[in-house]
Amino acid sequence: MSFDAAAYDAFYRLSVDDPHTFWATQAKRIDWHKPFTKTLDYDKPPFAKWFVGGETNLCYNAVDRHLATRADQAALVAISTETDTEITYTYAQLYAEVNRSAAMMQALGVRQGDRVLIYMPMIAEAAFAMLACARIGAIHSVVFGGFASNSLATRIDDATPVLIISADAGSRGCHVTPYKSLLDEAIALAQHKPKHVLMVNRGLAPMKMVPERDIDYATLRAKHLNAVVPVVWLESNAPSYILYTSGTTGKPKGVLRDVGGYAVALATSMDLVFCSKAGETFFCTSDIGWVVGHSYIIYGPLLAGMTTILYEGLPIRPDASIWWSIVEKYKVTRMSSAPTAIRVLKKQPLELLQKHDLSSLKTLYLAGEPLDQTTSDWISGVLGVPVIDNFWQTETGWPTISIAKGVGDKPARSGSPGQPLYGFKGKIINEETGEECAPNEKGVVVIEGPLPPGCLQTLYGDDERFVNTYWRNFKREAYSTFDWGIRDADGYYFILGRTDDVINVAGHRLGTREIEESISSHPNVSEVAVVGVENAIKGQCAVAFVILKNAAAATPEDAHKLETEIMKVVDKRLGPIGRPSHVYFVTALPKTRSGKLLRRSIQAICEGRDPGDLSVIEDPAALQQIRAVLVTS
Ligand code: AMP
Repeated sequence: MSFDAAAYDAFYRLSVDDPHTFWATQAKRIDWHKPFTKTLDYDKPPFAKWFVGGETNLCYNAVDRHLATRADQAALVAISTETDTEITYTYAQLYAEVNRSAAMMQALGVRQGDRVLIYMPMIAEAAFAMLACARIGAIHSVVFGGFASNSLATRIDDATPVLIISADAGSRGCHVTPYKSLLDEAIALAQHKPKHVLMVNRGLAPMKMVPERDIDYATLRAKHLNAVVPVVWLESNAPSYILYTSGTTGKPKGVLRDVGGYAVALATSMDLVFCSKAGETFFCTSDIGWVVGHSYIIYGPLLAGMTTILYEGLPIRPDASIWWSIVEKYKVTRMSSAPTAIRVLKKQPLELLQKHDLSSLKTLYLAGEPLDQTTSDWISGVLGVPVIDNFWQTETGWPTISIAKGVGDKPARSGSPGQPLYGFKGKIINEETGEECAPNEKGVVVIEGPLPPGCLQTLYGDDERFVNTYWRNFKREAYSTFDWGIRDADGYYFILGRTDDVINVAGHRLGTREIEESISSHPNVSEVAVVGVENAIKGQCAVAFVILKNAAAATPEDAHKLETEIMKVVDKRLGPIGRPSHVYFVTALPKTRSGKLLRRSIQAICEGRDPGDLSVIEDPAALQQIRAVLVTS
């Protein structure tokens, strides 16, 4: 494709200068039961309403509308190297399963607007459940299976679901996690009690069913084999789902998305960002518990009439050729993954990556964390395809900064995900003054309102928190990504890490406060600071500095025992993804005179960097202690 810079820029300019015209054109990519009367209502900033008055349905657009032309084409391929299963569902079969799932939900009392919490491993039933919710206008809230009971309980209390759908267990690297007992514990902890729990039995772990409340999926499904559940047409701005993400406080934020805007944004991105065509196969290696899984395992590829791969398992089991065997077998054209996974693969024998015919693959997209040039060059060389870095967030729902190869073949720039994509009015702002930064000056990456379709509408049940969190600076005209960045003279963005206390472990976003709160629940912990420290494979790792209530960690044996106990507490409350890689014991933590914990200084010391302005520290000896424990451990 030849590159016409002027045309690329003109396309972008139209999207931000005249969003009405731009998005009204893109909206034709999906089917509307009733046309919208207003493309954008931005009368109450920062709340943007897209395609007002229009009626549509995500499930209809992802499933039903393909039946006329591709009923027998594979829609969903569910592969598990944990259970050695591989099942293909055509669009016709997917339609039948989604209808069964919708009928089951209705039989259990789920109505339009009700929340359904999905706590499931990467199995096809999870996809059916998401689509079934979309079909009947119920709001799904998928909670990542790696989360333990405490995190799950917080989400149950926030979403107050009528129904929870789960399974006996998940499995990762043959390690079985009993979801049912974690769920029972979470329901016991939560104030809100769901009326029903629908359980898929995979035969991986014993399940104790609670009479009346717990229902067996297979038994109920058998009663609804021929179900046809009419699509509920929803106003474009009706809620489609809640997805919780970490913030600076321990309370997770429930990102709420709409129906029409999300459908249009995804359908457009499948074409312009992912250059994908109906009938092709898309393989996104994420998990349905994350936004990438929502957008590019489930909704995006299905809206585009593609075959999507749902993969449960590790990238290196049975060996590091597994992903590539999937690419060969299903003729995957576009693949989406995260840099951490690629760094894991880099440690594997090269021949495993090269033994399959990868000629179908055209592009690899990487997102979720900073992509280093070495990793990018290595995988691009091995696969012989271009690698496209794309920056986005749970909140934005689809890539925000990248290169829209479907618009034009704009060249990439080393270390940069690219430029703000069509629809996103990106800027770098000086944190103190709110003024736009000069080229190459570090500032906060913000997006000027209105946010384009597909982005969060608000935080579930908390408009005030939405405004106060994301729009509190820059005269409330711009959404903060909470990422530092710079823009070079040609408009390429470079992302320099979070401005808040959120860390990114293997592409998973965690709030240091959440981890600190779980560590604080250990009876012998008096104070704790958690920071994210650079890690060669995972990008970042959590490291904890703990002040004990008594000096029980006097000996190395005591310290080791306590460290193990604290890690177990985190595993139990948050799940293993939150577990710190190290726990160090200190008697003081560096704080400002006003008592604010100086996480950034601690982090700098852990990474061997300058801790910054020390005049703000109340007790400089506390920093010395951090240095000392790192040296002696
Ligand atoms: P999440 O909401 O879990 O998807 O995490 C979003 C955060 O991940 C962003 O705010 C960034 O800090 C980081 N992130 C995502 N994609 C990239 C990327 N391509 N380059 C650098 N950081 C990224």
